[in-house]
Amino acid sequence: MEQRITHACGHEQTHYLTGFASQHDRKARWLTTTKCRSCFITEKKTAQADAASRDNAAIAHLDLPSLTGSERQVAWATSVRASRLAALVDEPDAGDTDAFHTCLTITDAKWWIDYRDLANTDLLATAGSCIRPASIAAEMAAPSCLHQAA
Ligand SMILES: [Zn+2]
Repeated sequence: MEQRITHACGHEQTHYLTGFASQHDRKARWLTTTKCRSCFITEKKTAQADAASRDNAAIAHLDLPSLTGSERQVAWATSVRASRLAALVDEPDAGDTDAFHTCLTITDAKWWIDYRDLANTDLLATAGSCIRPASIAAEMAAPSCLHQAA
């Protein structure tokens, strides 16, 4: 059944309600307490943009190398890196300064995407595991996740 619902934001939207009549009423009542779809999307986008600009401000003082990967990976990893580094900057107790600096040198977009959901300490530990003592590094190929300067 299609029903016009006036949402909490004041906009009308047509909803297709399924199930029994009693469920329609409950669903319709609940829908009136929510925002319409376009307000919901706008709000979400605004929140994301706010978060992104907060992240970028938090890491503005860091001199970050360009990421490498496909265009899509780089775009995604850039925002992942910004939010993860902003969180680390915010949490000085996350500890390991060396690992944090290693994080700054990681240019592999895929690394940031693969590890985007790790807790801060795990992210640092993973970054830290890319650190090789100079003597060993000479014998091994440089870890692919590290910027050449490392
Ligand atoms: Zn609306």
